[in-house]
Amino acid sequence: MSPEEFRRQGHAAIDWIADYWAALDDLPVRSQVAPGEVAALMPASAPETGEPFDALLADLDRVVVPGLTHWQHPRFFAYFPANSSPAAILGDLLSSGIGAQGMIWATSPAVTEVEQVVLDWLADALGLPAAFRSDGPGGGVIQDTASTATLTALLAALHRASAGDVRRRGAGHEQWTVYGSTQAHSSLVKAAMMAGLGEESVRAVAVDPATQAMDVAALREAVDADVAAGRRPVMVHVACGSTSTGATDDVAAVVGLARAHDDLWVHVDGAWAGVAAVCPELRGHLRGVEDADSFVTNPHKWLLTTFDCSTFWVRDRAALTGALTILPEYLRNAATESGAVVDYRDWHPQLGRRFRSLKLWAVLRTYGLEGLRAHVRSGVALARRVAAHVAADDRFELVTQPSLSLVVLRVRAGDEQTLAAMEAVNASGEAYLSHTTVEGRAAIRVAVGSWRTTEADVDRTWRALQDAVSAQA
Ligand code: PLP
Repeated sequence: MSPEEFRRQGHAAIDWIADYWAALDDLPVRSQVAPGEVAALMPASAPETGEPFDALLADLDRVVVPGLTHWQHPRFFAYFPANSSPAAILGDLLSSGIGAQGMIWATSPAVTEVEQVVLDWLADALGLPAAFRSDGPGGGVIQDTASTATLTALLAALHRASAGDVRRRGAGHEQWTVYGSTQAHSSLVKAAMMAGLGEESVRAVAVDPATQAMDVAALREAVDADVAAGRRPVMVHVACGSTSTGATDDVAAVVGLARAHDDLWVHVDGAWAGVAAVCPELRGHLRGVEDADSFVTNPHKWLLTTFDCSTFWVRDRAALTGALTILPEYLRNAATESGAVVDYRDWHPQLGRRFRSLKLWAVLRTYGLEGLRAHVRSGVALARRVAAHVAADDRFELVTQPSLSLVVLRVRAGDEQTLAAMEAVNASGEAYLSHTTVEGRAAIRVAVGSWRTTEADVDRTWRALQDAVSAQA
């Protein structure tokens, strides 16, 4: 592709995205294809000779779009949002164009330093403690996902608790135990599996049935029982906005408990809800995070930053880099040896890394903190609107109190009716909702937070749900 052709096709690609967004409203939110339908539209092998790029753009419409569930659709309310935004896309595009590797400072100083500054900005904007900033003992890093951040936190916790023994000899010389509520994200168990502790090392601590928040007294009992049995508690996972219902564990209480046990690392998982702290009035759920050992939140969920961008901070970076640093000869360089720079390859499992901070920088500068606060506040206000609709129709009930922009509800008639109503809405293409179970009963999650959702979209979705229940009568 010549430079001129690249320019022309670049414009065409951006045009395609803008046209896609403009058309979204009329597309069914959930893809309606059957398994194998997309693959059947593609040739069995790669073309022997190159094709014009226009052919690919045409195939986006023909092959790809019908097989998409439209995450940027204004009536996408399933799972959690995966916000994109024009500024983030352009930032990501520039990162691809630059194509630099930022595994160590020396391979592209700007990749490291922009990331450090942008994460300091975000830490301040979220009200995180000064210790998490890059000019303190800790620092921030962009991970691909919160799952990787949680694994990384566990590796750092093991390093600190074992004084380096896990790094040298592996994790099998102690019976390490890890704690999270029954509502902790599954990435916690996966982290324990990947760290070599095994899934049985994870204690699923009971929750308060009404709030779904971790019962800290039960956590204390579990930790004490493990200590008494000679096991080594190493990390507590604290959910600030659980996946199922948006429940918030009491960070301050968990930190208080952990401090009584040497080396018990507290990792706060605010993957979805953490970014709400850009609004000072929406920080209550993070009370106590200032004393935690690590914190993760995903701008790629609810902060307008195209996947992937998971921001992770640690209070003391020595535990993290101690766990993961490794310096082969071919990466040796004067800057690393001077000790004056951060080499991000020591902050996560992989070596190679993209210039991810460019899209977050673009988001922070284009929308400003005021713009981001307006976006978060709009999600919270729209969720209140959903909750008001629920309260006004006695065929429905709230399962838990709305959490920020997440509303969990059910059809009073029962589980079957709840799931059937949700499936009717999803099958119609009108909106997309997802389900969970709370205390053994089925529930529908309405996760607001797309950057394109309006009151009209909420009302339209609600009418679809009401119609689905009316049709059951
Ligand atoms: N933690 C919580 C509370 C989540 O809700 C999720 C995903 O929804 C995750 C962790 C995992 O996030 P990721 O997909 O970035 O690994």
